[in-house]
Amino acid sequence: MKIQEIIDRQKAFFKTQQTKNIKFRKMYLEKLRDIIVKNEGLLYEAIYKDFGKSKFDAFTTEISFVLNDINYYLKNLNALAKPRSVRTNLANQLGKSKIYPEPLGNVLVIGAWNYPYQLSLSPVIAALAAGNCCVLKPSEISENTMKAMSKLINENFPPEYLYAYEGGIDEATELLKLKFDKIFFTGSTKVGKIVYQAAAENLTPVVLELGGKSPAIVTKDADLEVAAKRIVWGKFLNAGQTCVAPDYLLVEESIHEQFLEMLRKYITEFKYGPDSEHYTRIINQRNFQRLIRLINKEKVYFGGNSDEKKLFIEPTLLNNVSWEDDVMQEEIFGPILPVISFTNFNLVLTTVMELEKPLAAYLFTRNSEEKEAFTMKLSFGGGCINDVIMHLGNDRLPFGGVGNSGIGNYHGGYGFEAFSHQKSILEKATWGEPNIKYPPYSEKKLSWIRKLL
Ligand code: NAD
Repeated sequence: MKIQEIIDRQKAFFKTQQTKNIKFRKMYLEKLRDIIVKNEGLLYEAIYKDFGKSKFDAFTTEISFVLNDINYYLKNLNALAKPRSVRTNLANQLGKSKIYPEPLGNVLVIGAWNYPYQLSLSPVIAALAAGNCCVLKPSEISENTMKAMSKLINENFPPEYLYAYEGGIDEATELLKLKFDKIFFTGSTKVGKIVYQAAAENLTPVVLELGGKSPAIVTKDADLEVAAKRIVWGKFLNAGQTCVAPDYLLVEESIHEQFLEMLRKYITEFKYGPDSEHYTRIINQRNFQRLIRLINKEKVYFGGNSDEKKLFIEPTLLNNVSWEDDVMQEEIFGPILPVISFTNFNLVLTTVMELEKPLAAYLFTRNSEEKEAFTMKLSFGGGCINDVIMHLGNDRLPFGGVGNSGIGNYHGGYGFEAFSHQKSILEKATWGEPNIKYPPYSEKKLSWIRKLL
């Protein structure tokens, strides 16, 4: 079936009003949950083939995430979809004011490869929960997961409701020429701009979940052991191919050497070897080559080795890095961690504030003034104090970027909102209205109006 035909069918299906029924939405969310659970093994196999991601990582960062999302909406959908009454102002008496969350219609989700299930299915789940019809284009870079996910969707969902369209840039370009009621894109800032331009042609609203260079700052007041352990885990999870991974470290000079040693200790302890089953591979040759070029051998403090055949890059710490180095000019998106030292906390915050707003930022300290300055001065999508990445694990927190790192957000209730329109309705009584708003006007009417408004 041609994609235009699918979209025409989705538009026609949306008009039947069936997706407005909460039971209908729940039935398909349950179905999605069932097919994921039934085919978990197949999904793990595909992701392992794509980039050696272990079952443990695939469960904790992908499948459990998606299942939690489904369960969240099954539990909260009635409340989220319910019209909300709000107070009616004096000028609108006698009236009742309500907000009706309504589905937008036919939406497009474009996924990224690095968490291929979560980043494709989480927005899809939010879109369906909010009552939309949806086309998903997963990333072609993780080909096996794209095929596994698309097969499961297309064999179990009517295409007029949810359809997975396999393909790469050509297919994405083709989709972007069509009219949707929302486009939800996850990927690079560069492609995000292409998506935004295409959406503008049809005045289509967008959510853009993009990337950036997310800093982690470690001050002398931090619990250094905890900081080192959590940073090593978060940076080398998925071999650094995580949009919210700490991209680079800013470490206070007085603890710099001690902290580097702790990082080395945890990298060794976590056993990220070339034959390790729990250390993910680089997604492809192109990214492998790009990353290798970012490793300046003279600045390697730990690691630096690689094996192109296995697409393995050792967790690598770069020391004495300067802001001008190549590794500081682009988002790394791999297992390379540059470390820059600083002497003045406020000055280093000011330096970061001069850069593009990152998707995430992290601070390790026990000092409340530093926490306050970090939270209030620095603009970034979201982040943690004394941890990394874990803010994504709380579905009560919105997830999204700001500035160059994105537009809009999702997760939990925010995902529902991202795919809904808040329709306002004021219902007026047909009696009890003073005549003062109607002409002919007079000074007396104006003085009454002044009092009322
Ligand atoms: P990408 O931008 O290359 O690709 C993302 C999607 O866009 C894919 O489905 C791809 O097929 C499509 N695409 C690629 N080129 C296109 C074009 N010219 N026109 C239309 N569509 C096109 O990104 P990626 O390599 O898959 O992911 C890496 C980037 O994504 C990193 O910058 C990372 O930080 C970011 N990211 C952000 C989040 C987030 O939630 N904010 C999550 C994961 C990744």
